[in-house]
Amino acid sequence: MVDYIGVSDILRLVRREGTGHFISRLADEIERDYGRWGDFEKSARLASHSAAGVIELMPTSDGNLYSFKYVNGHPKNTAAGLLTVTAFGVLADVKTGYPMLLSELTVTTALRTAAMSALAARYLARSDSRVMALIGNGAQSEFQAIGFHRMLGIRELRLYDTDPKATEKLQRNLRAMPDLHDLHIVRASSSSDACKGADIVTTVTADKRNAIILTPPMILPGMHLNAVGGDCPGKTELHPDILRMSNISVVVEYEPQSRIEGEIQQMDSQYPVTEFSDLARGVSSGRVNASQVTVFDSVGFALEDYSALRFLHQLLHEERGAARQIDLVPELDDPKDLYGGTLGGRAPARLRKTA
Ligand code: NAD
Repeated sequence: MVDYIGVSDILRLVRREGTGHFISRLADEIERDYGRWGDFEKSARLASHSAAGVIELMPTSDGNLYSFKYVNGHPKNTAAGLLTVTAFGVLADVKTGYPMLLSELTVTTALRTAAMSALAARYLARSDSRVMALIGNGAQSEFQAIGFHRMLGIRELRLYDTDPKATEKLQRNLRAMPDLHDLHIVRASSSSDACKGADIVTTVTADKRNAIILTPPMILPGMHLNAVGGDCPGKTELHPDILRMSNISVVVEYEPQSRIEGEIQQMDSQYPVTEFSDLARGVSSGRVNASQVTVFDSVGFALEDYSALRFLHQLLHEERGAARQIDLVPELDDPKDLYGGTLGGRAPARLRKTA
């Protein structure tokens, strides 16, 4: 039998920890895994593009465990009452190739993206950062807000979305969270207005084009930009002149993938970037001075989903009893008799009664 985490299970597991605590623990797991970067098999994700969006497969392995995530990105879905991003994934045992866990990853992707964003900001943002602009107030936005409040000490959020209903929804949800009672929320009238006085600017918009959410005049010395929404060829959020500013430092997850999908797709192949693993391993320092502009050019890398699946599996096992399993793989008395043990009607006795 294969362990299973559905939507109801992920809610139970996260509520048990508390969302902020869960994000922070997951960030620790991700940081540890980036710290052993050399252990991982790495490849840019496999993307199937269409006019409406993209469907991607994201595999990795550290030689003991293998994982993959299926994820889509369809910015027009919300108009039809569907999510922009959905996902599920598998954790498998490398020794046998057997799947160990099949898990929902839609909620988990939002949690892990917030964990990765806040983790990168811990290395890159000024330590006295307290004000964050949050531009794009859709499905990912609450998770980003919770992660930055918990891990960076953000106490003022400046919200902007082209859809006022999305901002109303975010504001309502944030106000209902007891842990965020000390968070001051400001509704801005534009991206530019949201950036005023911000130490950190998070862009998490969805649009299948080279959108220009931020331009150079909005960027002040010392800012950290957490650019999350540009994550596909032809789908970016920053004006390329921001990347050409002097005194800028750009951090990516896995360079070969980010050159295709990140903000840096707008720059030539020699454009200098630092991989996050260099920060996690202490090979490179993040911010070098208080006036530097730092950018986390986030696209999402398979290692982060590996960390999330392994962490979820550990939490599931700590629960004892509540964990659900599914019959994804046949269990046979004779592994060479697949037919007999299934369609031939000779399933092991323990399975027959449930068939
Ligand atoms: P969503 O559709 O729920 O929300 C996106 C919001 O952006 C919407 O409310 C929309 O009105 C707003 N928006 C669009 N254009 C805008 C503009 N010009 N200015 C201000 N707001 C604008 O999508 P989501 O699930 O929140 O995902 C947001 C983005 O993050 C997507 O592009 C998705 O692909 C990306 N994403 C990245 C990662 C990563 O690891 N980097 C992970 C998950 C999602």
